[in-house]
Amino acid sequence: MEKISFLTLEKAREIIKSIPTPFHIYDENGIRENARALKAAFAWNPGFKEYFAVKATPNPYILQLLLEEGCGCDCSSYTELMLAKAVGATGKDIMFSSNVTPEKDMRKAYELGAYINLDDSTHVEFLHRVAGAVPETVCLRYNPGGSFSLGNTIMDMPGHAKYGMTEDQMANAMVRLMKLGTKHFGIHAFLASNTTTNEYYPELAANLFRLAVRLHKATGAHIAFVNLSGGVGVDYRPEQPKCDIAAIGEGVRQQYESILTPEGMDDIAIFTELGRFMLAPYGHLVSTVLHQKHIYREYIGLDACAADLMRPAMYGAYHHITVLGKEDAVLDHVYDVTGGLCENNDKFAIERSLPQIDIGDILVLHDTGAHGHSMGYNYNGKLRSAEVLLRTDGSFKLIRRAEKPADYFATLDFSEFDLSE
Ligand SMILES: *Cc1c(COP(=O)(O)O)cnc(C)c1O
Repeated sequence: MEKISFLTLEKAREIIKSIPTPFHIYDENGIRENARALKAAFAWNPGFKEYFAVKATPNPYILQLLLEEGCGCDCSSYTELMLAKAVGATGKDIMFSSNVTPEKDMRKAYELGAYINLDDSTHVEFLHRVAGAVPETVCLRYNPGGSFSLGNTIMDMPGHAKYGMTEDQMANAMVRLMKLGTKHFGIHAFLASNTTTNEYYPELAANLFRLAVRLHKATGAHIAFVNLSGGVGVDYRPEQPKCDIAAIGEGVRQQYESILTPEGMDDIAIFTELGRFMLAPYGHLVSTVLHQKHIYREYIGLDACAADLMRPAMYGAYHHITVLGKEDAVLDHVYDVTGGLCENNDKFAIERSLPQIDIGDILVLHDTGAHGHSMGYNYNGKLRSAEVLLRTDGSFKLIRRAEKPADYFATLDFSEFDLSE
């Protein structure tokens, strides 16, 4: 499979005239079509709702268009709650899935009427204390311990993860919550990240559906929703298969009908908290080649760096690269494509086969729409890039300006110094 940029050289040049590189650009059309495909895949479940994981792309314009597609916001912090509120998400449009939660954040989530997903059983009393009451519906995060496997493949090790609570703790928390006035429950688990198999959600769903049945039987609690959380992945590499969301939705439906329907628990709504799947493929990091050097390897130096996209430096993650205008050229050069941080892991690509690259060429790094700009940082005094929305009608809008030196210095006290350029 070839990876095709949604941005042409011509369009990129037009945008760069008013917005210099580097910037992340998001494709409204792709985002909307994908959100609709997800909704269609779960249309069999009348209560289905996707709560977009705000941390993936915390920009109000992105949240707004997802809200228009019927999504809510999954928040994990005070500022993410503020963002959700700013775009008009209220009450049950918000899922609050946090851990190590500060009082202020918990209180805010309660005040907004969000669904609160408790990470630990001690948070029952914590919530009750800071909010003065408990909500009518509360979600509990599950950790099954051990390892989570699909077939013979170990996908992740929940037993080593800090999140969630044991089944006994969940049952106990439900009983305590019901005494305090809670009437309905959600259950949640996030057991593997960036999965590229269509089996992940159905397998997770089967686990959570069986758990829902056991918890209902043990406590009499009414389970109102099952939150499958995030974890559906994307094909970062061109040779990887794409997740088929219709097949995933169908797989979950089969588990639902075989586990929940016979128990008369078929009023359970399915929620998701996808981040990567919703946005990653619909974002590019656009960058210009500043320098080339020829030492023991061939290096291409970009005006973007790990401050704009941390995943390669942090996880050794692969992001596909297209050289705009050279889409059809032969890949007869081998380059390390780097940013300018004083860190040798600031490499967007290592020994990558690419067409011949010249200074001034415009490169697109694919699949940066989620966990891209949002993971950025300011190491080396690097300033984070702009964000641009490419509209369905072909126009574009600056939805976050690039940082300026004043932003970088904003939290320092210069009253005793002379900060001038
Ligand atoms: C990060 C996160 C998500 C989104 O994960 P993706 O891999 O982007 O789908 C959803 N829920 C919670 C609680 C998270 O921490």
